[in-house]
Amino acid sequence: MLSRRSFLKTGITTGAAALPLVSRIDALDGATLAAQQTGGGENAATGILVPLPDRLPQQQIPAEPWQNRVRRVGQTNMTEHDPAVMNVEEWADYWHSAKVDVVFVSVTGILAFYPSKVPFHKHGKFLNGRDFFGECTAAAKQRGMRVVARMSPDLNWPDALAAHPKWAMRHKDGSPQLSTEDPRLFKTCMFSSYMDDYVPAIMREISSLYDVDCFYTNGWPPLGNLPECYCANCSKLPPGGTPAYWRVFTERVLALWQRYDAIAKEKQVDSFYFANSGGNVRGGPNLDQLGKIIAWFQADNQGRTYEDPAVWGCSSQGRACNAVLDGKFAANVTAAYSTGNPGWRNASKSPDETRMWINETLASGMVPYLHFVGAEKGFCEDRRWQKLGVDYFDWTARHDAHLAARRSIANIGVVIGQSTQLLYPGPATVRTRAYMHETTQGIYDALLRGRFAFDYVHEDRLEPERLKKYRALLLPNVAMLSDRQCEQLSDYVRAGGSLMADFETSLYDENLNPRADFGLAGLFGVSKVGDAVGTNGNPYYARIERPESPPPQSPAPHAIVEGFRDTNWIPGAQNRLPLKPVGNPVLTVVPGFVRYPPELAYPPVSETTEPAVVLRESGSSRLAWFSGDVERTWWLTGHGDLLRLLHNTIRWLTHDERVVSVEGPGFIEMFAWETRPGYAVHLLNYSNANAFHGWMQSIDPLGAQQLSMKLPPQVHVKSVELLRAEQTVPFKLDGQTLRFTVPSVADYEVAAVTVA
Ligand SMILES: [Zn+2]
Repeated sequence: MLSRRSFLKTGITTGAAALPLVSRIDALDGATLAAQQTGGGENAATGILVPLPDRLPQQQIPAEPWQNRVRRVGQTNMTEHDPAVMNVEEWADYWHSAKVDVVFVSVTGILAFYPSKVPFHKHGKFLNGRDFFGECTAAAKQRGMRVVARMSPDLNWPDALAAHPKWAMRHKDGSPQLSTEDPRLFKTCMFSSYMDDYVPAIMREISSLYDVDCFYTNGWPPLGNLPECYCANCSKLPPGGTPAYWRVFTERVLALWQRYDAIAKEKQVDSFYFANSGGNVRGGPNLDQLGKIIAWFQADNQGRTYEDPAVWGCSSQGRACNAVLDGKFAANVTAAYSTGNPGWRNASKSPDETRMWINETLASGMVPYLHFVGAEKGFCEDRRWQKLGVDYFDWTARHDAHLAARRSIANIGVVIGQSTQLLYPGPATVRTRAYMHETTQGIYDALLRGRFAFDYVHEDRLEPERLKKYRALLLPNVAMLSDRQCEQLSDYVRAGGSLMADFETSLYDENLNPRADFGLAGLFGVSKVGDAVGTNGNPYYARIERPESPPPQSPAPHAIVEGFRDTNWIPGAQNRLPLKPVGNPVLTVVPGFVRYPPELAYPPVSETTEPAVVLRESGSSRLAWFSGDVERTWWLTGHGDLLRLLHNTIRWLTHDERVVSVEGPGFIEMFAWETRPGYAVHLLNYSNANAFHGWMQSIDPLGAQQLSMKLPPQVHVKSVELLRAEQTVPFKLDGQTLRFTVPSVADYEVAAVTVA
């Protein structure tokens, strides 16, 4: 029987005469056919298993910095009122019972939680001379927990503004920028002496008085966007929102970061400074540069937001961390309180949602960190989150060895294009800040539904050594690429790697200056022949020129159009950049038209030579370039043809190679890690009415999932354990190919393979 695999192998021949594929397609097994007919299939994960890389050498654990051994983090975010109401013993007992290694205790900077003598470090009105910070720190230390001194340098009060007008961020008219929620507070400017003088003064005061393990700033640097300030200092900087501004911003962040880090180390050499570093693929400062100096990546990605309602927001953050950390420590903050808009800071969110966010934290290789705000009535009016935290953390503590990730196992890299995410305004046809977010969500969703194992790759980390693990790199409208980055991608292809790109990829350099043609034009054999074409109601179609069942004497079918039957065309995309014709095209453009009135809803031209996709092969390298924004259009429309096209293309690019295969029902996210004991495959169940809106309110368990992976030579399996079910499962070995079944998945399961 012919499998999908052999179809993909035979279907790639370019320029050959037609092959009689009909009978072969008919011979496909029922399951594959069913998956094809339902639009690409969420449960289709067939493919050719390739061996995992040789295992990393075992490191000496004691040589690692202390934070790398942290497995659980806790924080009750202290309010001004807490010194009057919080039961310190109960607070410390709780986090100790949750087995956290570290707690955050507020020093702040907006309000002092100790009798600070630093000018303008205003004492909270319920402090009454008490050393609340010191008491909490002592209570934590008595129980063996480390303490992070938490500061917040982003806001201050009118008396500070009056004495130091230069500390404020300013509007264009010169007025100070105020907190939108409490306009008594002004926003401090990161380019002012506030950051040079005030923050170090507080740090040194804390170091002189207390035994803390490290320092952290909340509220700075900004996440996922850049500040917009018109103060005297900032007016001398490059214009806001430009690549030049971003570079200056990153330099300032890194300079302050390193300065604060040095202050932290003045007392204790293993101390360090860190700050909020979330913001997902947009980041704030350049994540590549930050990754090189950071000791603790604090992903402040606390829950789903109105702008980002897909359930995988935390997992995506974990992938962004993994792209830049080289194995350094990352923790993601899960809000046990109610995130969203509006949100309730002192009320628990749904427990299934809280658990899913922690599941994603672990699955994506970060350390879980539970967070609640305020301790009214002793230790919270709302205690519903507390048992959840203890139960969850207690479970993790039983499985720490398997839950600590060492190295991602993935054979696909998605270039995130941080500069494009932050600075590119979208194409001329659709100017929206959401453009790249929608693009990224589109490729993410498509990869999950195809159960592909993928990493994010930062555009400043395209060295051959980093890329060699990937069979293919995907460039979802990575509009900004420097000449050097284009050259690195060419080197990757010369070394046998495959690439997929689309629309405006490489149309701009690293300074957002447009190029006359794509920076990757030569590599892909594409050339731009016009400006971006948007949609006037009904987008363009892609005519299938090399269908599965071609007429006699026609070009051979192509694997990327496998499964499209009974149609001559499929949807194109919302926007496209017209390309120069190529020989033997697989898809050509049928231009768009209006959607209304229906009398005019027909193509003005039915046949063109404009390619909708350009494919190339050289040795084992395969290249695919779509003229349209296919991933984003998949996200906007949910049209299954686009999903199938993306899946077919990714399978073709990768020669259908898989590092881990997970077959079974449902919509899941999969992560695979090398761990110290062996391997861990994490399965997150997103088959849920609330996967794209609101919170998980209940769980719909999934049936059996068949897992397989090919282990490196000389690696022997001792056991396979399901960590959530807390049971071992039988496994089969066929040579080095390991196969086992996960009988069911509630919200989350981790299959832990112990090897010798
Ligand atoms: Zn400023």
